[in-house]
Amino acid sequence: MINNLLNKTVAVFGLGKSGMAVVRELKQRGIHVIAWDNKEELRKEASNFGATIQDLMTVNFSDVEFLVISPGIPHTYPTPHPIAQRAKDAGVKILDDIELFVSTYKNAHYIGITGTNGKSTTTALVHHILKENGIPTAIGGNFGIPVFDLPVLGNDGWYVFEMSSYQIELSPSIDFDISAILNITPDHLSRHNGMDGYVNIKKQIFNRISKKNVSNVIAVDDEYTKKIFNELQKESVSSVHNIPVSFNRKVDGYYVNSFGILIDNTKGEKKELFDLKTLLNLKGKHNWQNIVVSFAVAKSVGIATSKILNAIKTFTPLEHRVEKVADFASVEFINDSKATNAEATQYAISSLDDVYWIIGGRKKEGGIDILMPQLSNGNIKRIFTIGECENEFYNQTKKIVPTYKCHKLDKAVIKAFKLATHDLKKKKVNNPVVILSPACASFDQYKSFEARGEHFKTIVRNIIAKYKNKMG
Ligand code: ADP
Repeated sequence: MINNLLNKTVAVFGLGKSGMAVVRELKQRGIHVIAWDNKEELRKEASNFGATIQDLMTVNFSDVEFLVISPGIPHTYPTPHPIAQRAKDAGVKILDDIELFVSTYKNAHYIGITGTNGKSTTTALVHHILKENGIPTAIGGNFGIPVFDLPVLGNDGWYVFEMSSYQIELSPSIDFDISAILNITPDHLSRHNGMDGYVNIKKQIFNRISKKNVSNVIAVDDEYTKKIFNELQKESVSSVHNIPVSFNRKVDGYYVNSFGILIDNTKGEKKELFDLKTLLNLKGKHNWQNIVVSFAVAKSVGIATSKILNAIKTFTPLEHRVEKVADFASVEFINDSKATNAEATQYAISSLDDVYWIIGGRKKEGGIDILMPQLSNGNIKRIFTIGECENEFYNQTKKIVPTYKCHKLDKAVIKAFKLATHDLKKKKVNNPVVILSPACASFDQYKSFEARGEHFKTIVRNIIAKYKNKMG
């Protein structure tokens, strides 16, 4: 696409890291770019790359080839941004940097990974497995570096892209060699006109079968992904391999049995491969789903089982996802700030023994309703609420588990630590874990989930330093 653009005009709206990388790439290729962002400093930077700066509300879109838009800007639901609407009215295609990148570098191989939770972990794990096995690879999409800042890989290269629902929607013609879906639960519904819209977009990661030998990896652990698998099986042609995987029941592909053993059942032999419970770097049942999906993807690339398993063992877990911060005075501290919805907290919370759980922030659809049955299991000892929705969560949980309103994170961590050591002394608990797994977005009090997680870690370090000082 990019090679046919000389003497044509491309509009770029949204000049964050990925938009700016698009501007730079297009300008280096001598293509005329009109760029716009609400922030003046970003407009200046784009102008330094040679872009024409003009408010896209005043541009005549009939002269524009296509509009590259940041995935964060709505172009369909709840209502299209007025600039996106102008492009649509003029019949101009709207796409993102990923679509542009893949259509530019057609020779490499592409893996797309989506789902509501676990995308980043799985994308990073697949990338790690490929890298450890000497395969030229780069990671991008919703993860880390903008695609146009990635190295250009040759014919034997594999790009591993984390694909959010927004990015799937904005890159309709990408032909992934391997696509994978982890799970679907309600999230971002207003941007996709409800649950049906959200599921349909997620499914589109598979609807690209012009390539030969395409593999679709589907974790069939919820009703939505199961339905997608059944539909794909019906639609399928012989060059498409649909591989079912599961982390909690037997399927014809790869699965994890109730003892945590990874099983290869692709030939109906139920071959036991590895005990996932022995992995210290990927703890928790939710990670079994990420591992089984990554395993199936790596097998589809053509890597031998033993080599995949060796690589999984050396994976360094990502920050802010069930990240162990410290062990102090027999209390473990875990940062799970990336758990921005109830499903994301669910497995972490259920895999731990004595939980001192910090929740709250900006509430998502459904709040913590799905977690309520878990509160009666007995492993959640005390709850500490913070943030915008704390009254609501407090009222919901206090009748089942002792709950403390703390408003702010520092107060919550200090109180949780004090009560955990108190309960330890009284021999009420054995392995207390203070965990920030908020089941909420961070934006009421923080710039991002990363900032919230960093704050948690600083508070923990300060507590430890203070107690160490006291003890002399
Ligand atoms: P994403 O990129 O989809 O947000 P991450 O890998 O960053 O996924 O994990 C986000 C949160 O979800 C973390 O709190 C993590 O512990 C939890 N999580 C990770 N994998 C899964 C999974 N397969 N199912 C449910 N929750 C998960």
